[in-house]
Amino acid sequence: MRRVSEHIYLLDTYALGFVEFVAAYLVVGSESSALVDIGYASSLPRVFEELGEAGLKPTDVNYVVPTHLHLDHAGGASQFIKNSKKSIILCHPRAVKHFLDPSKLNASVREFYGDLASSFGLVEPIPLENIRSVQEYERIDMGDASLRFIYAPGHAPHQIAVYVEEDQALITGDAVSIDLPSFPSRIPTTPPPSYNHLEAIETLMKLSKLKAKIILRPHFGETAWSQDYFDEEISLLESWKENVEEYLKKGSAIDDAVEEIVNQYSRKFKNKITTVPFYLYTTIKLSYLGMEKYLREQR
Ligand SMILES: [Zn+2]
Repeated sequence: MRRVSEHIYLLDTYALGFVEFVAAYLVVGSESSALVDIGYASSLPRVFEELGEAGLKPTDVNYVVPTHLHLDHAGGASQFIKNSKKSIILCHPRAVKHFLDPSKLNASVREFYGDLASSFGLVEPIPLENIRSVQEYERIDMGDASLRFIYAPGHAPHQIAVYVEEDQALITGDAVSIDLPSFPSRIPTTPPPSYNHLEAIETLMKLSKLKAKIILRPHFGETAWSQDYFDEEISLLESWKENVEEYLKKGSAIDDAVEEIVNQYSRKFKNKITTVPFYLYTTIKLSYLGMEKYLREQR
């Protein structure tokens, strides 16, 4: 647990046993507090420990705000509610039905992750009284801090970013790339089933206009605000798109293309890393699949 601004703490969820891979952000106001993203269900015990370090019990957390429905962000929500029956899940209107009935979500996780999915932990239905959808730019007052919700589609259609005005801090969800302390390069995150490239770019432009002070990323940590950061994010997505387009034109098999891309990272950074860890390998593969699906649907 680490304080990153006046009202915000970064919690390392130790996702799947890895440090500094999946963060959750705890926003503590004078009246109430919120967890923005919560990690996998399997890392919830760690989240509870970290909450404890901040002097909070699960029942002190009034709101849980999964930025989107992927399990590294929302997976722990149902188990959290079991531990804190009065907490409210705040989410995009399009996410509500999946929290009520996660069967489709669970099936799609199985489809894309296979056996690895069992290590994410159980996702169960959440009662309707614990779920509230938020409107774009809606503000939730928590005393001396507040949450402002910004729709951030692209990575997923139901994604929201959270702006904490009092700290000029933006919690991005996966609207931005993966940039881990342990890896020397940003990695685009454009997964199936519903990555939308145009929306992802529009979202980055929209977020860049906020002029906050800090950017709080789930994967992983804080970055000082700059226009350059967002410009670089946009060019990363554009060049990733061109990259995948090339493989598509060549008719490369998915596994061959991914292997080649991963090897390019290994070669480029051979002085800094020994190998590309498997969870990044999986991320790259999913990003490839999502971008490929998007490109095919554009044809
Ligand atoms: Zn994520």
